[in-house]
Formats: sequence, structure tokens, C-alpha cells
Amino acid sequence: MKPKVYLATTVPAEVEAYIAAHCAYGKWDQREPIPRERLLEEISDAEGLLTVGGRIDGELLELAPRLKVVSNVSVGYNNMDLAAMKKRGVMGTNTPHVLDETVADLAFALILSTARRVPELDRHVKEGKWERTSDERLFGVDVHHKTLGIIGMGRIGEAIARRGKLGFGMEVLYYNRRRKPEAEEKLGVAYRQLADLLRESDFVVLMVPLQKETTHLMGSEQFALMKETAIFINTSRGKTVDEAALIEALREKQIWGAGLDVFDEEPVSPANPLLAMPNVVTLPHIGSATRQTRFAMAMAAAKNLVAAVQGQVPPDLIPELRAGVEEPQ
Ligand code: NAP
Repeated sequence: MKPKVYLATTVPAEVEAYIAAHCAYGKWDQREPIPRERLLEEISDAEGLLTVGGRIDGELLELAPRLKVVSNVSVGYNNMDLAAMKKRGVMGTNTPHVLDETVADLAFALILSTARRVPELDRHVKEGKWERTSDERLFGVDVHHKTLGIIGMGRIGEAIARRGKLGFGMEVLYYNRRRKPEAEEKLGVAYRQLADLLRESDFVVLMVPLQKETTHLMGSEQFALMKETAIFINTSRGKTVDEAALIEALREKQIWGAGLDVFDEEPVSPANPLLAMPNVVTLPHIGSATRQTRFAMAMAAAKNLVAAVQGQVPPDLIPELRAGVEEPQ
């Protein structure tokens, strides 16, 4: 008998066919996220769950006694209560590597569009306000040959660094939990303590995973260290930033602007003051959202799901769970 799994998000037909070849499955096929109550009902007899960001906690695990694996269609896994999963011996997987270049592209899209005020000036043209090109009020700031500071020099951080270094001739600084001499050698980036990186950088990109230690990593103290001309970019998770402190820093002109793909609350409230600031470029958490990359992520998640319910170690078992989960035979 095929193992039973539940797909809490829609996947491309080819990915679904791959899962169907190996598993019996139920699926949520609505556009809106699956309501929690419905998910809890659906997974009561499932051995595997494929999901995008739904909360995986003690309550859910309690109600899914046969669950062996939760397969995230994302590289971040801050939705998972790793301690509860470890206790229950449930594996967790993510989709690293396949999205690195796509997310790095988006980080650069935010850098460029904030610095050169692309969305604001697009509106300016379309609203018929274009009078002359030498209007100083339309001027932005340069990106090329400036200093780029990356907080979190992981897979995506490195892809951003490469773009900055090779494409834009930037000086690239980084801060990371552990120093990475191999990245320094390979990419020509320089390590700095966080405070020094913030003081020296013209662009600060936040690219750490959301964990207890990185929650509000950027707060008023950190924004106060940045240059008044600097731009802050967040492509990690909303809660790595103290959003009230960011709003204050922008209002007080402690920094020049911000480019944000992620927010404390998502979808962001229309009343959020950040949305009314012309020097803030906002996106709806679309870092990895190209057809090609989302397909690759869904396929990677499907392969992790199938491997785990078949009793194999899935290719992308989350590092923190590797020691906690017995190697399946
Ligand atoms: P990764 O390869 O694991 O890189 C994360 C880096 O952050 C690692 O180098 C890690 O250091 C460092 N780090 C962890 N905790 C730290 C801390 N407390 N202080 C300083 N550095 C710390 O992950 P990735 O694939 O690059 O992805 C990073 C994150 O980006 C994901 O977790 C996800 O939340 C976010 N993301 C967002 C989008 C989007 O749509 N906006 C898309 C993809 C990913 P070590 O070398 O010591 O481990």
C-alpha cells in the first residue's frame, strides 16, 4: 500500500504526478491558505505533509500520530518547532540551493529600485508629471562602486556578494555567525563585526534565517549606526527586524531608504506606515517567485517528502534535525 501524504499547498501538475506515483495523497487546491482546523483534520492519518510556511507545533504533531516528515516548499523553516519535532522523531526538510540565484536577483532588484527610486519614478511618468529630466528632485544614489554590507553570508548571501563584486564593482563586507575564510578567498569579501559593517556600508542587506538569536537583529541601536545616506534591504524574514525601529529610523532620516520583501505581519496591513513612505520599496515576499524556481522548489520538496515516507534519509533534512532523527533503514 502506498504511504499517505497530504499536500497543504498546490504544486505543478508534473510534481503532483511524481507524488502520485509514490504516494496516496489528499490535497488543498484553493488559492487561499488552508485553514488550520482543516489541516489538523486532514493530517490525522498522514505520514507526510508538504507545506509552505504553516505552523508546525506540538498541537499539530499530537494530532498527526503517523507523521514522519514535514516537507517545506521553502528554504526557511522558522515555521517549524524543531524541539517538538525532535521529541516526536518527525523529520523536517527544506529546499536549499535551487533558489539562491533567484533570491539574489531580487535582493539586487530592491537595491537598484530603492537607490534609483524606480517605482516612485514609474508612477511619476505614468501620472503625467514628467516635465524635464534634469530635475534634481528625481535624483537617486549610485549603486556601483559603493560598499555593500551583507548580514548572513550563507548560500544566498554569497550569491548577492558575487553580483555586488563582479557586476557592480562594489566593495563587499559581511557579518556572519562564523567567519568564512573560504568565502573571503573565493569572493574577495571582507569580514566585519556587525557594528563596523553598519557604520561602513552604503547598502545593508539582511539575509539571516529567522531564529531566536536573529529576532530583531536590526533594532534602533543598529539603525542608529548606519550612514544617513545608507539603504537597508530585508530579504530574510520580517521578524529579523524591529519594524517600529525601522519606521522611526526612516522618519528621523537616520537612513536614506529601505527595500523590503518581508514584513513583521504578512500580508502587510495597508495601514502600515512603511507603505506611505516614497523612499521605501515594498514587495509581497516574492524572493523566490519565478516559475522556474518555484517549480524546482516544489519538485525538491516532493522528492524530500517521498524519500522520507519510503524510509530513506531525505536529501534536504534540516541540519538541526539530523542528529535528532534516527537514520531510517
Ligand atoms: P543559509 O545558507 O543557511 O545562510 C544563512 C547564513 O546566516 C549562514 O551563513 C549563517 O551562519 C548565518 N547566520 C545564522 N544565524 C546567524 C546569526 N545569529 N548571526 C549572524 N549570522 C547568522 O540560508 P540561505 O539559503 O542563504 O537563506 C537565508 C534565509 O533567507 C532563509 O532562512 C530564509 O528565511 C530567507 N529567505 C527569504 C526568501 C524570500 O522570499 N524573501 C527566499 C529565500 C530565503 P553559519 O555559517 O554560522 O551557519
